[in-house]
Amino acid sequence: MGAQFERWEYLNPGKTRAEILDISHTTMLYVEGVTVSFDGFRALDDLSIYIDSGELRCVIGPNGAGKTTMMDVITGKTRPDTGTVFFGQKIDLLRMSESEIAEAGIGRKFQKPTVFEHQSVFDNLELAMAGDKRVLSTLVAKLSSEQRDRIDAVLDLVGLKELAFREAGALSHGQKQWLEIGMLLMQNPLLLLVDEPVAGMTHQEMDRTAELLTSLAGKHAVVVVEHDMDFVRSIAKRVTVLHQGRVLAEGTMDEIQKDPKVVEVYLGE
Ligand code: ADP
Ligand code: MG
Repeated sequence: MGAQFERWEYLNPGKTRAEILDISHTTMLYVEGVTVSFDGFRALDDLSIYIDSGELRCVIGPNGAGKTTMMDVITGKTRPDTGTVFFGQKIDLLRMSESEIAEAGIGRKFQKPTVFEHQSVFDNLELAMAGDKRVLSTLVAKLSSEQRDRIDAVLDLVGLKELAFREAGALSHGQKQWLEIGMLLMQNPLLLLVDEPVAGMTHQEMDRTAELLTSLAGKHAVVVVEHDMDFVRSIAKRVTVLHQGRVLAEGTMDEIQKDPKVVEVYLGE
């Protein structure tokens, strides 16, 4: 469990994170009737979307559909004009700051990797585990074997074990993306939001990223926003199509590809 979550545990002694969140229901994230206006323009227009625990959801839609704004709302960067956003049954995300939302177990991966270029891959993961700088000084002194094991497990998962002691700055673009996903995993999020993960990747890197995101589902809920349709097809289970700030269609890739509304606004472009 990430160092940052300890505060939550402290406030809820003797309870597991799942109990604190009350995710006994299969739905983990409830976005309901959310509207976001920028100067009268509705980037999100009465949007409702529900994510189950452990699910892998792809969100697609033309440019300007509101995909990034949706992530901004979930992570507390943008406040909606109307609507509700709940994490589990009890946690009202609209009343929390960005850092509180991250602490509650929602990790977000932005498009551009933000790794510490002059630190090794291993040290980047160690820093991510520390989460905040107060813990850092004690970690630098000595990692417990449990902490070391966690870093090793994440290195394995993101396929960077061989490169653990390479400077992050020397990694390829794809490897940096995986490292950043690894850094998010060090916080052990329940929900991971990933915005356009394969932009700029080689085909080989895309295949590896598909495997990685697929392997994360189950343990973490993963919401992937992506333009590359071949990539979406390779990982898709349930797909949500956004258009003009609303859900246009939702279903399997097959179902949405046959949907005339979707063909018209997106796939037929
Ligand atoms: P997507 O990620 O699906 O391409 P966005 O969520 O980035 O779409 O944007 C949705 C719409 O909202 C776009 O028309 C965009 O120009 C507008 N928008 C997003 N953020 C802002 C902002 N901070 N100020 C004004 N307009 C914005
Ligand atoms: Mg976007």
